[in-house]
Amino acid sequence: MKIQRKPDWLKLRLSGTAHFASTKKLIAGYGLNTVCRSAQCPNLHECWSSGTATFLLLGDTCTRSCRFCAVINANVLPVPDPNEPQKIAQAVRKMELRHVVLTSVTRDDLWDGGSRAWTATIEAVRTENPEATIECLIPDFQGSRNALHRVMNMRPDVLNHNVETVPALYDIVRPQADYTRSLDVLHMAKHEYGLNTKSGLMVGMGETFLQVQEVLDDLSAIGCDHVTIGQYLQPSSQHFPVQSYITPKQFDGYREYALKSGFINVQSGPYVRSSYYAAESLS
Ligand code: SF4
Repeated sequence: MKIQRKPDWLKLRLSGTAHFASTKKLIAGYGLNTVCRSAQCPNLHECWSSGTATFLLLGDTCTRSCRFCAVINANVLPVPDPNEPQKIAQAVRKMELRHVVLTSVTRDDLWDGGSRAWTATIEAVRTENPEATIECLIPDFQGSRNALHRVMNMRPDVLNHNVETVPALYDIVRPQADYTRSLDVLHMAKHEYGLNTKSGLMVGMGETFLQVQEVLDDLSAIGCDHVTIGQYLQPSSQHFPVQSYITPKQFDGYREYALKSGFINVQSGPYVRSSYYAAESLS
């Protein structure tokens, strides 16, 4: 397959500031993981320079092997650090975050899917930072209602679960996940817990415009409030190749369609990621 060259609108601007260095030092000081670094997010310099980051719970290794994801994966994983919730809570306080985004690797190896670490972290962050709002970008916990209940019962300000791509591509790029199960997670959050819900997908993996519209229809039909749409970027030559670079105009088309479908907030653009400007999109 012909390797696609990055178009001009994806030529990245790096902006290292003093704030970037202090964010990096603080996160390293607590020995924390971030999805910013683990997933090779293209916005890392921008976000860390503005003093924000998304914390990655339960280690830096995932039990799933999605072909688009830069996070490392393995079958046997270390026991989660019992002090991680407290460390994250303290880091949040030092960073003075008013909106905290938490996510985790998928831990299908743990009996509770890691859901207790999630609740412990939410609790610790709230105790140390009572004014901060909390957004949880959760895995599907293999559809375990017990695990989902545990986390949703903590009533985060935003419950995010990404569908990641169109259902036709799940077998190819996300074989251990299930599109319907992901919709069920969001449905449960919205209709059983009344939570503010969010989802997102990456484009440029071979999906059609119509397939993206169908995903937006599915999300809107279950009352999902927020959606993010961003360009997929191949983390390494071992990962699924980019099939196309979506133009800013096409992203505008997705935004218009999503807004017409009833989403409260739509982020659609080449660099959009789940947690990009997450605080601003809530206000
Ligand atoms: S967009 Fe999210 S994951 Fe990417 S650098 Fe910013 S906070 Fe981190």
